[in-house]
Amino acid sequence: MNNPSLNTHWMPFTPNKGFKASPRMLTGAKGMHWITDDNRQVLDMTAGLWCCNAGHGNPHIAEAIARQARELDYAPCFGFGHPLAFELSERLAHLAPGNLNRVFYTNSGSESVETALKMALAYHHARGEAGRQLFIGRERGYHGVNFGGIAVGGITNNYKAFGQWLPTDHLSHTQDLRRNAFSRGLPLHGGIDMANELEKLIRLHDASRIAAVIIEPISGAGGVLPPPVGYLQRIREICDQHGILLIFDEVICGFGRTGEAFASQTFQVQPDIMTTAKGLTNGAAPMGAVLAGDHVYDAVMEASASGVEFFHGYTYSAHPLACAAAMATLDVYEQDGLYQRGDADGEISQYFERGLHSLKGLPGVIDIRNYSLIAAVEFDAPAGTDIQAMAWEQGLMLRSLGNAIAMSPPLILEKEHVDQTVGILERCIRQHF
Ligand code: PLP
Repeated sequence: MNNPSLNTHWMPFTPNKGFKASPRMLTGAKGMHWITDDNRQVLDMTAGLWCCNAGHGNPHIAEAIARQARELDYAPCFGFGHPLAFELSERLAHLAPGNLNRVFYTNSGSESVETALKMALAYHHARGEAGRQLFIGRERGYHGVNFGGIAVGGITNNYKAFGQWLPTDHLSHTQDLRRNAFSRGLPLHGGIDMANELEKLIRLHDASRIAAVIIEPISGAGGVLPPPVGYLQRIREICDQHGILLIFDEVICGFGRTGEAFASQTFQVQPDIMTTAKGLTNGAAPMGAVLAGDHVYDAVMEASASGVEFFHGYTYSAHPLACAAAMATLDVYEQDGLYQRGDADGEISQYFERGLHSLKGLPGVIDIRNYSLIAAVEFDAPAGTDIQAMAWEQGLMLRSLGNAIAMSPPLILEKEHVDQTVGILERCIRQHF
């Protein structure tokens, strides 16, 4: 079928009626660019959905998936295994900071989040603290779309029709436009005070009821909010004082976005559990991985003498094609030096930062913020969708986040791509306001 009807596909997070009236079809992708059905090249400044960190169409990854499909297309992971899953786990454990040595596979960021929340409950249960059932998330936090994730998340539209079915409370978000607008890198003001709000929530709920705090090191879908200086360190300290686990949701930050493999390394704060997905396979196969500290794994293992220790898993956990994609992706990241490419002080990050911040002063722009190769431009009105649409027409893909547009380009970005982006963005902003 060359021209399928658009009616049957109920599209996710999409204004379906709008899309179907004016479709934006992607038919191919190579390097930094998409190819559209009308044969245009569109610059991808979003790495798809924050996932294609090595750019598109990498032959090493494509060949690894094809080879694996011929060799072992599927293997059940309940009670059986296949060597690639163990090999990948060793590699991830080696890459991850501290004692995050136990790897549990999922198929998405949302599933990684559910898995991490359940690990936290299982950990406390195993240690005789089953009363710790409450989670602390954060306003504007995004942790996927499953019931646990929307409960700990802090984006109202994502739960208002569905409810929040986990016991949760939320820290405030960390945006402070009054003091931190137009920050380059980490915002300077307010980090410790913002983190100290956790103490208030602990007084309110009592530590004996709190299982974990879950936060994104840099809040992504909630607007790209890098953590103010000292914030993450202080959250860690408070968690430690009260026996509360700290979960970092690194579904966006992981795999090079902040200049190291993981943001926990960049910001030097060690979580107990870390969720990943997206960049793990460069977006080429659905896969997530949750990395748990040895202490979390050991507690759950030791609590049961025999039988299944953790009643959780997915039919496609450690899917062989996804494992092959992940192994090849890690090869590419390592061989091409992509973890370091996003170094906040590195040449390309600095060029990107300077380019974007040159837009300060344009009509409607109330903030520009970035850490390394993740950034947002915020407006004084919900202009994101319109500017995204105009940019698309001019050959640039951006992410709309309501009042803001976000960028998280593939880490293979070159200066010419920054120049093109800044030029188009400036035209679109002037056109809109
Ligand atoms: N967690 C974070 C921090 C995310 O940014 C996302 C997706 O953007 C998710 C979880 C959910 O991932 P997925 O869409 O793969 O379920």
